[in-house]
Amino acid sequence: MEKIVWKANARCAVSLSFDVDGETLWISKDPANEHRPGVLSQGAYGPKVGVPLILDLLERFALHATFFVPGWIVSHYPQVIELIHRAGHEIGHHGYKHEWPDSEHPEIEKEVLLKGIDAIKGITDEQPGGYRSPAWELTPNTLNFLKDEGFLYSSNLMDDFAPYMHPQGIVELPVQWLLDDAPFFLFQTRVPSRPIWPADLVLKAWQEEFHGIYQYGGFFNLTMHPQFIGRPGRLQMLERLLQRIVSYPDVWMAPLKDVALYWKENQS
Ligand SMILES: [Zn+2]
Repeated sequence: MEKIVWKANARCAVSLSFDVDGETLWISKDPANEHRPGVLSQGAYGPKVGVPLILDLLERFALHATFFVPGWIVSHYPQVIELIHRAGHEIGHHGYKHEWPDSEHPEIEKEVLLKGIDAIKGITDEQPGGYRSPAWELTPNTLNFLKDEGFLYSSNLMDDFAPYMHPQGIVELPVQWLLDDAPFFLFQTRVPSRPIWPADLVLKAWQEEFHGIYQYGGFFNLTMHPQFIGRPGRLQMLERLLQRIVSYPDVWMAPLKDVALYWKENQS
């Protein structure tokens, strides 16, 4: 792998992102969940309790992160999203109602994209720079739509651990299931589900991968969900992970938008 020259000659880059799916995660899995208050309450925990605790933790480490928020959540929790924005964090696009993009209906994909942009602009007064698909899945149209709407980056694909450029001029900031809290913590009762992992084992998995990415000089892009990572014990695990990361020399920690901008201006 070619050596990446990171900002200020850092050894590697780290971004923390939080997908504030809230209730839309459950509604997009099954529309009937909209009428199941118990199921929805699992999602509501995210914006209601998880986000404020995460903001406290980030403030203690003086870190800025990226929050990907579906438009529906922006409309239902405007004060919470304002709080995120006022604390200086980035707000990225995450669909409207957490819809899986459908390549058969490009007009619906475009409509959802525009609705999500409008919702975010209502809080931040500016176009979101980043797009994370609710399913980490793109259609053949998505990157062209993102280009039309002036997006800077996509954070959806798994084919690298360094950023790269799409032909459309959109920076890709790659993700991975390993660096996502959902495969470890997402539990469902109505379908066969994985067991819940203890946070310490997840800490071990994430530390191992951070150490590897640091050695290669790549990009550690961690995706979390306030409804999962926002549980008290797991937040303490995240705190231990952050303590470990900041103990390494020459780590550049920044929101995804800053990493994408740096890549576009310096590496592409
Ligand atoms: Zn999501």
